[in-house]
Amino acid sequence: MRIGLGVDFHRFVEGRRLVLGGVEIPHTKGLEGHSDADALTHAICDALLGAAGLGDIGLHFPPGDPRFQDISSLELLRRVCEMLRQRGFRVENVDAVLVLEEPRVTPFFPSMREKLADVLELPPERINLKATRPEGLGALGRGEGVLAQAVALLAKAL
Ligand code: MG
Repeated sequence: MRIGLGVDFHRFVEGRRLVLGGVEIPHTKGLEGHSDADALTHAICDALLGAAGLGDIGLHFPPGDPRFQDISSLELLRRVCEMLRQRGFRVENVDAVLVLEEPRVTPFFPSMREKLADVLELPPERINLKATRPEGLGALGRGEGVLAQAVALLAKAL
C-alpha cells in the first residue's frame, strides 16, 4: 500500500468558469489558472502522483505549456491514472476536502464523484468529498480563492 497527499490553491477571478471535480458550478467568479484551474482534481492528481513516487502535477504538466492551456483537469487525471496503471498501481480510495467560503459546493458532490469515479475507474463510494468554510479567516475566508486537499491510497501488485 502507498499513501499520497495533494494540496492545491487557486485564486478567484472575474470572467472564468468555476470547475471543481470536473463539474461546472454556477458562480459570479471562476478560478485562475493555466488549465481549467480545477483545484480539487489537481489535489487528487498530486495525491495519486505522490503515492506512486512520481513527483507532482507541475512536473508532468508544466504550467505555461500550450498543450495544457484550458485543458480539462479530468484529462490530466486520466493521464495520471494511465501512468499509475503502467507501473502496476491500483487506486484503493481517495478522500478530499475543499476549503472555500462560497459558493456552496456540497450539492454538486454526487456529480463530481460520478465524474471522478469514471476517470479513476472506481465505484463512487471510494471517492469521498468534503467541504468546509474557513469562517472568515484569512484570504480564503475573504472569498479570494479555494484550497483543496486530498489523500489517496494505492495498492501495487507484488
Ligand atoms: Mg492547480
